[in-house]
Amino acid sequence: MRTKVVAGNWKMNKTAAETAALIAEIRAAMDGGGTAEVVVCPPFTNLQTAAEALQGSKIALGAQNMHWLKDGAYTGEISADMLKNLGATHVILGHSERRQYFAETDATVNEKTKAALAAGLVPIVCVGETLAQREANQTGAVVTGQVKAGLAGIPAPSFEKIIVAYEPVWAIGTGKVATPEQAQEVHAIIRVTLAELAGCPCVAAKVRIQYGGSMNAGNAATLLAQPDIDGGLIGGAALKPADFAAIIKAAG
Ligand code: PEP
Repeated sequence: MRTKVVAGNWKMNKTAAETAALIAEIRAAMDGGGTAEVVVCPPFTNLQTAAEALQGSKIALGAQNMHWLKDGAYTGEISADMLKNLGATHVILGHSERRQYFAETDATVNEKTKAALAAGLVPIVCVGETLAQREANQTGAVVTGQVKAGLAGIPAPSFEKIIVAYEPVWAIGTGKVATPEQAQEVHAIIRVTLAELAGCPCVAAKVRIQYGGSMNAGNAATLLAQPDIDGGLIGGAALKPADFAAIIKAAG
């Protein structure tokens, strides 16, 4: 039995003061919350404020990116240890916006995933196909390739510390959500790929696979009812306390 996990990706939104206010609103809207794990991922600049605002809650703190090296001459970059030091426990890696706008590749996602695990952070590894790839019937191949490359060289016992987020690029921020059947089909492919990589379905059965892409208060329940959908990575709706709380409720 996998505990569902709902994570909010705030992207490049909110100042520190706005972060404190939004977390207070989310905590009030959640009213204690249910059984799902909850993570909020504000911008780097607001992690400290967020950590303070989250004290006494069951909500975990995540970042949206990191570098794979521990330190050095990498202007503008942030390491896993720096995130941990501010109280982060999770980090989103390989989001399609980072792949699209910041030249992130499967190879850098792999380096980052290994570094996050080594530092004790939970990596949320994002994969997903573009609309052109879906229309060319390449979804399975693309997603399988991203999972294999992203997790290459990681020992099977570490798999259960990783969250995979299936985020069809055409569904992110567009209002076009994958149908529960479309999402379930790809989640099942990802789980088979994880089993192949690990050499055992028993390992793959423990990995949480989130769906992300225009998940909202209205469509969350049917998506989360699918057997291989273990939570959501939420963009736009994560900035709306009532909607985010409704998704968390739908997750249990
Ligand atoms: C995301 O950016 O990870 C995301 C899923 O965004 P949205 O929910 O806005 O589609």
